[in-house]
Order: sequence, then structure tokens, then C-alpha cells
Amino acid sequence: MVNSLTALSLPPLFARIVPELSLDRAFDYSIPDFLVGRVKVGSKVKVPFGSRTLVGFVLELRERAEVEKTKPILELLGESSYLPAALLEMAQWMKHYYCASLGSVMMTLMPKSVRHADAKFKERLWVTKIEGIPEETVAKEVHRATKQREAWEFLQFKSEGWLSDFTKEAGISVATWRALEDRGFVSIHSKTEERLPWMEMPTQPFLPLVLHEEQQQALAMILKEMTENQPKPILIHGITGSGKTEVYLQAIHEVIRAGKRAIVLVPEISLTPQTMERFHGRFLGEKVRIAVLHSHLSDGERHDQWHQIREGRAQIVIGARSAIFAPMPDLGLIVVDEEHESSYKQEENPHYHARDLAVLRGHLEKIPVVLGSATPSLESMLRVEEGKYHKIRLNRRAGAESLPMIHLVDLKKDFGKKGKKQSMLSETLVAAVQARLDRGEQSLLFLNRRGYSSSIQCPQCGVVQECAHCSVSLTYHRQKGRLQCHLCGEGKAMPRSCPGCGFDDYAQSRHGTEKIEEVVAAVFPKARICRIDSDTMNTKHALHHALKAVSNREVDILIGTQMITKGLHFPWVTCVGVIDSDLALQIPDYRSSERVFQTLMQVAGRSGRSDLPGEVYIQTKMPFHPAIQFARHHDIDGFYEQELEFRRTVGFPPYCRSILIEWKGKHEEMSQRISDLQSEEIRKAVAPFGEAGYVSPAPLHKVKDLYRFHLFIKSRDHFAMVNALRPLIERFQKVKEVQVKIDVDPYHLT
Ligand code: ADP
Ligand code: ZN
Repeated sequence: MVNSLTALSLPPLFARIVPELSLDRAFDYSIPDFLVGRVKVGSKVKVPFGSRTLVGFVLELRERAEVEKTKPILELLGESSYLPAALLEMAQWMKHYYCASLGSVMMTLMPKSVRHADAKFKERLWVTKIEGIPEETVAKEVHRATKQREAWEFLQFKSEGWLSDFTKEAGISVATWRALEDRGFVSIHSKTEERLPWMEMPTQPFLPLVLHEEQQQALAMILKEMTENQPKPILIHGITGSGKTEVYLQAIHEVIRAGKRAIVLVPEISLTPQTMERFHGRFLGEKVRIAVLHSHLSDGERHDQWHQIREGRAQIVIGARSAIFAPMPDLGLIVVDEEHESSYKQEENPHYHARDLAVLRGHLEKIPVVLGSATPSLESMLRVEEGKYHKIRLNRRAGAESLPMIHLVDLKKDFGKKGKKQSMLSETLVAAVQARLDRGEQSLLFLNRRGYSSSIQCPQCGVVQECAHCSVSLTYHRQKGRLQCHLCGEGKAMPRSCPGCGFDDYAQSRHGTEKIEEVVAAVFPKARICRIDSDTMNTKHALHHALKAVSNREVDILIGTQMITKGLHFPWVTCVGVIDSDLALQIPDYRSSERVFQTLMQVAGRSGRSDLPGEVYIQTKMPFHPAIQFARHHDIDGFYEQELEFRRTVGFPPYCRSILIEWKGKHEEMSQRISDLQSEEIRKAVAPFGEAGYVSPAPLHKVKDLYRFHLFIKSRDHFAMVNALRPLIERFQKVKEVQVKIDVDPYHLT
């Protein structure tokens, strides 16, 4: 039967809506007369649901409902909160690919402060002077009302502003302003005040540089891809300091010139004032608005930034992982800087990967996606090999400096001075740092572990202080005098002697940044030392101040964790020391090698950025480990060739997709039994589409008093695999004794 509505082409009368619930269902509702034409795909609405009223999102407009009886939409919440079509398509894809519920995906897509039923802009009263009123009229009317006279005079300097500011600045009451309003001399009305996040505003423009040849080729490739019907992503594989950011900036400039917009993803950690200043400085005076999205925004700021983006008032969005969901209209380009970074992977449901979603969004919006890195992920390298991405190399440093010289220091041979209480600083490294101090240059010491000493082990009885709730050792934080668990945060005071045998001189077998700071201070008593890790950088501007101090050369030795390896520019740092490169290699994960190689290359990139040559010292007990050897020789191609070959032989990602199923429960035996039974079912169901291993206790077996079990699955036909898994997982999730979760393309196997 032909639908008569279509024939008359009336607007659709039904909407498919996903209520804000982790349900995997959407429901049809009818659109009441007063909302026809106003409800759009992505609109936020209020709907009846059972006996409750819920906020929901419109996924689709339909001419007919799937069920016979539909309830009507009750209310439209804000005409402007809807999502671009590409994002809704992304939501559907995410649901299938990540085996997630549509509700959870929709919740990920929009920040809570936007989803919330009564989210709104902040309204304040705004006073405007009415122009063109003859001075005699005013004089005649208010000459005896002194306060009103004063207020009028105040308006001669400032003809408009917030009412509350006016009452404060001029010391004139609201009643007086209202009286002027009654006389028709001013208007007072409610106006939206945008809550803008704090930003470092540049004082100087950051002018475009003349691109060197490799950069020109990269830019040309991006611009050419923009004209293609279905552009391919472009991987810019450029060593640190090769001028990738300059290429992004110039490409974005072209995008804006063409009337389009850009999203730039950076790892959360590099959303530093330096980055923001660089972007702002480039577009200074060009009326380009830059929005930011990161985890430090207040709810109000996030709400306002989101709407600013959705209404197309910002041309550029810079943000961490979730900025890939920025509801930007007319997108022209997406840039993913440091595309190999594991922080792009969300570790909670729906476990998405922002780089992969960037590529998907680029595909849906038919725009190029630029992935940049000095050490690309193996996933992206393989896509290049398969011809799915273009690749361009930037091989020389833009400022014409050379790559730093990398030295390996074999810790088995080169101990520190302190003999048996090995001091963590080899003699070689001490000499290198001393040379910098003598020349007034800076050194950077990297250790990927905060705290004082990562585990406290009794040298007499061997007992290690472990967390009572998690299967990890506690970390000693000296400043607090406490042992603390880095997984659950629980802690206790540092005991004076071993609780096992009473021995009272603990050997500190491994060492955190706090300990290094103490040792460095003892070895270099005159040096000015600054430590950057998440313990010392716990206030909003602490990192900003610390980085300023480093650039102003008020610091001689910078000690830090991961936080200092990303995208920072320190021209006076000429020596980089990696305190212990072996730690990460001991993690039972097939990606360990890749991570260590990437970290070493990134840390090495922090040195020698100006005309002063840099040197890097890698302390290790495994000097012949391939990841360390390739890093030492800056042999990036060698590393990728070997690592890809290894992954291919053993059939690991990126040569297949992988899925990790996790069970977590209070009772070890019960959880074990349930995971055994359920994993058997899974093994049978997925056999046609890939292979599942056997369930086993997770490397971190106990976290926050829950026992964890893992099942690792490799899939050949991913979507078919997920289809087979979904009903099982949904059924398993109903079992109360254990929590089951599914992580597609897992990043951490521990
Ligand atoms: P990356 O993002 O690859 O680390 P950047 O774009 O940050 O590289 O560039 C590194 C340094 O080189 C910056 O100080 C930048 O100002 C400078 N630079 C970049 N491109 C050029 C160029 N074409 N000419 C001169 N200096 C450049
Ligand atoms: Zn714990």
C-alpha cells in the first residue's frame, strides 16, 4: 500500500527515540502537532516511559511507527540541541563495532551537561543605553534624582554592560537602573553569558613559516585529498620537531579559508598552554574562534563550548579523545596528533578508540583525516602498507638541528657511586648532567613511575607490601609518609619495620620520581630541581607554572613521568636521561615492545631542539632488547619491519581484530566457575569467525577486592563475531554474581 503521507510529502509524524538508558533499544513515539517540523534527528525530547518521564534522543524520523500504539513526545528540550547526521551514523556504527548498547553510545556522544534535561546557558541582565535621547530631556527628567543623574553620567563612558557589574562599579542600586528603564533611557534585558574556559591568550601573532620541501609535500597532499570525492586518511610520519604542527596549522588555515571547520585531537596530556597559545597565536586577528574540550572544563563551560561548536560559531575545536564527537557542522578536516597515543582509547564502556572514530568520521563526512606521529601505531603503518592510507615522511628537523646522540648505559656494569645502595644514577649519567650544569644547560630525567619507591620489599624475609584489595604492591610516597595503591588509592602509614619479620631497614628495590628527586638533590646539591608528575601537578595551573619556570631557565634539572614526554618544546634541554627503560618491557602484553620503543623515541625527542646538540642516556639492564637497540639507532623503519613481521607470524593485531572479555566478581571460586562455563559457550559461538583462547586469571588478578578473569579472542570477521557475541554477553550480564564486560581492540591486557 502506498503511504498517503509520502504522496503528499508531509513531514514525518513519528520519531524513533533512544531513552537515556543503557538499554539497547530505541522506541517509536508520535510527534504531536505542535512539534511537527521542530523535532529533528538528534533532538532532545521528553518522553513517557512506563510510569516515568525520561530524556531521549531522536535517532530517526519516520513516516510510520513499527508498533500500532505509540505515545506522544511530551516536550522538545531546546530547539538547538541536535546532532549532525554524521554523528548519528557514527553512533550506529559504534553500537555494532564495539558491541555496545545504543543508549551507552548516545551518552558518550553528548556531554552530560548538554544531555541533562535542564541544561542551559547562563542568563544575566544586560543594560543598554538608548541612543538619541536629547540631553535636555534627560536633564529635565532626572535633574532632581541625583542617583539617576549619576547613573546616566556613568553611561556616557560605558554605554552597555551587565547590570550586576554596573551596580558594583558605579555603586548604583538596581532600583535606580530600573527607574531609568521606566523613563525609557535604558533597556534592561536578559542575555546569555557564555562561560569561556580560561585560556592563555597570546601576546604575539605566531606567523606562518615558510615550509620546507617535505612540509610542502605534506600540505599539498592534504589539500589535494580535500578535493577528492572520497579522500583517504594521510599518515604524517615525522620525527619530533620535523614541523608536523606547522603543517596542520597551514592546512587548517586553508580549510577555514574555504569556509569549513576543523577538529584537532591531541592527547589530554598535551593540551598545554603551549599548544593553545600556538593555535591562538596563528589565528590572532582573523576572527577565528577556537573551542576547547577537555576534562578540566566545568559543566557550564562544557555546555557552552558544545553549543558554540554546534551552532558553527567556532572554526576550530581542539580537544582530547571525546572531541571526536564535537557536533561541528561543515567539517573540512580532522587532525589526530600523536595518533599512536594510548589515551585515545577509552577504557570504559563503550571502549572506543578516538583515532579509529576519526577515520570513520572522515569517511562519513568525505573529508581527509591527518594522523601525525613520530612513532605511528602499527595499526596505521599496516593501513599504509595495505594502501588504505597515504603516507608522507618528514625526515629532517625543521630547525635544521640534528637528532640527538643516543647512548645506552648498561646498568649491570655501570653502577652509581653509592655502591650497594645503588643510586639509580649511573656514573655516566651523573657526568652528563654535571656537564650541563657547568654550561648552564638543562637536563631532563624521565621515569615512568610516580611515588618514591614502587615496591617495598623486606631484604630479610622478602615480604612485599601489597594492597589488601588489589594484587599489586603498594608504592611508598615519602612526602605523605604513606604506602599507597595506585589502582584503588587505598593506603596506610609506612610501617617502621617489616610486619613479617621485624627487620627495620627496607631495601627500596625500585624507585619512583619522588625518590629520584631526593637522589638528584643529594648528588647535585646546588641544582634547581623541578618534578612533574600527577602528584606534584595536582592543581589547575601547577603544570603551567612549572613549564614556564623551565622555559625561563629557572630550573636546571627536570624530573618527570609520562607527563613530560609529550610535545613540549624546551630548547635548553640538551641531556635526557631515561632512568629505567626496562620496567615497561616486563609487562605481559604483546604491545610492550611497541610502547617502550615509542616512549624512548618520544623522550629522546625532548632534547636538542635548538642549535645545541642533544644527548640521550638510556639506562637499562637489557641493552640488547630489540626495542632498545632500534631506538638507540633511531631505526624506526627497522623497528616497524621487525615488529610487524612478529605480529604477522603470531597472528596478533593489527593482523586481526581482538576482543577481550572480562569477568569480575567478589568470590574468587564462584567467578572462576562462572567464567569457565560462560567462556565455553563463547568459544563455541565464535568458532566460525575467529578463535578464542581459554579463560584465565587476569595478570592483575585482584583489583578493588574483585577477582578478574580474562578471555582473549581474535576475530577474522569482526562484525559477524560481534553479532554472535552480543546475545551471549547480554544474557551473561544478567547474572548477578559477576560483572561481564567486552572490550573491542583492547589496549591493556593486564
Ligand atoms: P612537530 O609538530 O613535528 O614536533 P613543530 O611543528 O612543532 O614540529 O616544529 C618544531 C619547531 O620547528 C618549532 O619550533 C617550529 O616553529 C619550527 N618550524 C616548523 N616548521 C618550520 C619551518 N618551515 N621553518 C622554520 N622553522 C620551522
Ligand atoms: Zn588497591
